Amino acid sequence: MTPRVRFAPSPTGFFHVGSARTSLFNWLYARHTGGAFVLRIEDTDTERNRDEWQAGILSAMAWLGLTYDEGPFLQSSLLADHTAAAEALYGAGRLYACDCTRDAIDERTKDAAKPGYDGFCRRRGLSRSPETALRFAVAREGETVVHDLIRGDVTFANASYEDFVVVRPNGVVLYPLANLVDDRSIGITHVIRGEDLLPTAPKQVMMWEALNDCDGVESVPLPRYAHLPMLVNEQRKKLSKRKDPVAVESYRDQGYLPEAFVNYLALLGWSPRGGDEKVSRETLVEQFALEDVSHSPAFFDVKKLTHLNGEYLRAMSLEQFVEAARPWVAPWSSPWRPTTAPPWTAEEFDEALFTRVAPLVQERVTTLGEVPAMVAFFFGALRLDEAAFAKTIGGDPLGQTMLAVAIERFAGLTWSATTLHEATAELGEALGLALRKAQAPIRCAVTGTLVGPPLFESLEILGREPVLARLRDALARANA
Ligand code: GLU
Repeated sequence: MTPRVRFAPSPTGFFHVGSARTSLFNWLYARHTGGAFVLRIEDTDTERNRDEWQAGILSAMAWLGLTYDEGPFLQSSLLADHTAAAEALYGAGRLYACDCTRDAIDERTKDAAKPGYDGFCRRRGLSRSPETALRFAVAREGETVVHDLIRGDVTFANASYEDFVVVRPNGVVLYPLANLVDDRSIGITHVIRGEDLLPTAPKQVMMWEALNDCDGVESVPLPRYAHLPMLVNEQRKKLSKRKDPVAVESYRDQGYLPEAFVNYLALLGWSPRGGDEKVSRETLVEQFALEDVSHSPAFFDVKKLTHLNGEYLRAMSLEQFVEAARPWVAPWSSPWRPTTAPPWTAEEFDEALFTRVAPLVQERVTTLGEVPAMVAFFFGALRLDEAAFAKTIGGDPLGQTMLAVAIERFAGLTWSATTLHEATAELGEALGLALRKAQAPIRCAVTGTLVGPPLFESLEILGREPVLARLRDALARANA
């Protein structure tokens, strides 16, 4: 049978890295096996759903290249199927009406050894009314087995399950049944999802098998399950929506590359053959196997992701890098824009100049979001870091002397990075300054800061007149 897998996100918040990993593993499995990847939006939690969360899921999946073959199906458009399944279960005597209030249950069970509902209404034969919920009659004995491709067979004692509610008094079919009915109707063969859903799986297996036994309901083989390991933070605690950086959008915004992000997500619970962790999408597809997914928690390590992103950036051709940096350096000519704009205007920006400096920064940045700060001194008025100025020029007479002699020497120099480097070293030496010290006031005067791309190459690209003008301005400022 051709595998059919689905990704079934609930649009109740930012698209979480854990959801992205689930989506990717489904996608990889489908692409590896030649099966179908189906997208179903579980939008039945009307209080928490928002259209923008749904749009965020779709755009993040598109960004990551997680193309789906069918869907998006909306769970909210399948409500009639959920109700029909509940009716079939009720008709077959697998659900029963219950009018117990929470208080009544608590009162009856306060001294009971086993928490939860006590099965009080199971034999009462109540008829249905707007006050009754429908509960599933869980077998009192035996076991329910969830066949999990990652964990093996996971066995649950039926006695540990209460008769759980399937339909609320208001007629709403609860999520575990809705979810499995949808999986049945779209012919899902493998349910690949987060470990947090493992406790729900036995209930779903019970109901799935019960549905197969109902008259008039087509029998559908149980899916194989694969519950993916939890993602944890540095403290080995479950990633927290509030405390950890979990929103996929924010990684896009900071300038992580989709290919690097996908590569990193694939390593969360799985590893490629051979030691190298930087692997292409094609290799991921070729090697991915659910059986190789680990069941221990996976550490979501932003440092490792960032390092990998830097490797992807450096592996790009110059043209690719310039194009990838466009949303950050020239957002006005990009269809998508990050939340922070560069510190220059469209008029001040010069694409040809950027292409010349790009190789200098490509080697040094780990995200595209770092690019604007590194090249800001090429475009528009100089933005001076006051503390850096005070340290290397304003409060340092030697720094000022260095600027004065540089102005003189640079004026008549054959203009190249090599000659600028040699001249600066020589001038510094005459003042008893090591090269690092000698170039600091020049860097500050020309770039406004003390960090940035290689100085002499930058000076060469910027050109003699702008460089001399900035050196003079800085000196004048120090003497003002
Ligand atoms: N909608 C569920 C969630 O976002 C996923 C359910 C499933 O994959 O079975 O957690």
